[in-house]
Amino acid sequence: ASSTPSNFIREIIEEDLRTGRRDRVVTRFPPEPNGYLHIGHAKAICLNFGMAREFGGVCHLRLDDTNPTTEDIEFVEAIQRDVRWLGFDWAEKKFHASDYYEQIYEFTEALILRGKAYVCSLSEEDTRKYRGTISEAGTPSPYRERTVEENLDLLRRMRKGEFPDGAHVVRAKIDMANPNMKLRDPPIVRIRHAHHFRTGDTWCIYPLYDFAHALSDWIEGITHSLCTLEFENNRELYDWFLEALELGNRPKQYEFARLNLTYMLMSKRKLLQLVEKKFVSGWDDPRMWTIAGLRRRGYTPEAVRNLCERVGVAKTNSVVDVALLDHVVREDLSPRSPRVMCVLNPLKVVIESWAEGEVEQLDAPYWPADIGKEGSRKVPLSREIYIERDDFMENPPKDWHRLAPGGEVRLRHGYVIRCTAVEKDETTGEIVALRCTHDPASRGGGGRKVKGTIHWVSVAHAQEVEVRLYDRLFAVEQPGVAEDITTELNSNSLVVVRGRAEPSLAEAKAGEHVQFERLGFFFVDPVDSRDGAPIFNRTVALKDSWSK
Ligand code: ATP
Ligand code: MG
Ligand code: MG
Repeated sequence: ASSTPSNFIREIIEEDLRTGRRDRVVTRFPPEPNGYLHIGHAKAICLNFGMAREFGGVCHLRLDDTNPTTEDIEFVEAIQRDVRWLGFDWAEKKFHASDYYEQIYEFTEALILRGKAYVCSLSEEDTRKYRGTISEAGTPSPYRERTVEENLDLLRRMRKGEFPDGAHVVRAKIDMANPNMKLRDPPIVRIRHAHHFRTGDTWCIYPLYDFAHALSDWIEGITHSLCTLEFENNRELYDWFLEALELGNRPKQYEFARLNLTYMLMSKRKLLQLVEKKFVSGWDDPRMWTIAGLRRRGYTPEAVRNLCERVGVAKTNSVVDVALLDHVVREDLSPRSPRVMCVLNPLKVVIESWAEGEVEQLDAPYWPADIGKEGSRKVPLSREIYIERDDFMENPPKDWHRLAPGGEVRLRHGYVIRCTAVEKDETTGEIVALRCTHDPASRGGGGRKVKGTIHWVSVAHAQEVEVRLYDRLFAVEQPGVAEDITTELNSNSLVVVRGRAEPSLAEAKAGEHVQFERLGFFFVDPVDSRDGAPIFNRTVALKDSWSK
């Protein structure tokens, strides 16, 4: 259909299967367990798992754990939780790059034996100098012509732990003049005397990304190795390893555009900074665009998948307006969020025509007609109610549809009230209450029409609840530019208020979605809520600024 967004990967796979170049599809999602997954990763997850599912193949979950100093089991667990939450399953095909260390080591010896790798003992600084620049060829390392025997001996001693970090590195012997800098004898194995969260102290040498990645893909029988555009120049190197080792059934790498959203930074390293510097409460802070943060904020997997679907898979990078994310979230939450009432900034209203002590239980449907769902609850109305302070203006503009002195407004599910007097604090002049009368003939829409309808809660029945109002963590559309990240933060990204909620909400359970009428979609915080004391996170406000 014309509305299906482009996905050139799908076309490649279709072609590969049609021509018989491939007889099956094996993809992988290969996160490094050095942080929590973010919404950018969701795109890679949807693509890798999605393509495997669509073509009857499998997608492996591979923890790319080749960097012992930054990785942790906490992150492995978070990654699994998040992939599952998004609705994908690796069907027992969970692997770790560290499972392949021995095999990768053997491949390293094999490269040396073929004269295609050598042990280099230049300092890091000299290595950089020798590499040259894009416009200038590099200079061969003085260690480049070491004999196979010498290289093997050094590699074995590296493995045994005879040398300190940085003393030697194994490099692929490719081409120091290649215009593609990635091919100028890249390092493939380095020394790191560090404890690895899985292999412990078994190893003190670790393969580097490109080497480990190509070999892990090959070992697992990956057919289509999908990664983001910044790895375009790495593809030649990827192919070089497979070629140099004469491996059959080679996987092939394809690059697609990263997902970028305005107001967000798609980098685990940057997210880690926000966590470590305590700009947020943790990786799952609802202001974070980590999968864990989005989940706790009340976003749904359907909405996140839908975003990825709409963005499509392209070959050029772009930045997607975060309003699209808000839009898909609203679209998804609307049919699953019962409409209820909660007043966030209360102003007391005394309905003087209402008998003292009288309570009427109004029938209040949970759903608007267009959702087409059944169900309602009783909402008590009494002589004293709270309305939103913002719904009253003493000197309103001409087009004001809410309450004003002498004016009328309808109480949602109830009666039309008229404001007859305004009570003020004598010293501060602040409005402390309104006096109103109600029209008994106007119940439930009966009688006549008034322009405005407002939400309200009976004072005697109100439940005090904590409400967390979230806004964007960054105040600037493209964060990460300023030297000091704090200058880009939005100082009002979290406002906590005591809301007055209708009684039915006292029993709201962690993980439930509701819409507070006129205020937004809210989610009962699954971490801090207690039985009888729900905490409501605002997932997203109601107003939609996304234009199609
Ligand atoms: P970060 O810079 O956030 O740490 P990364 O690419 O280093 O990201 P990995 O854990 O290596 O993180 O990522 C796993 C996979 O997710 C990779 O294949 C990577 O290309 C993909 N990925 C990461 N960020 C995005 C993004 N913004 N959009 C799409 N895919 C992404
Ligand atoms: Mg990475
Ligand atoms: Mg990274």
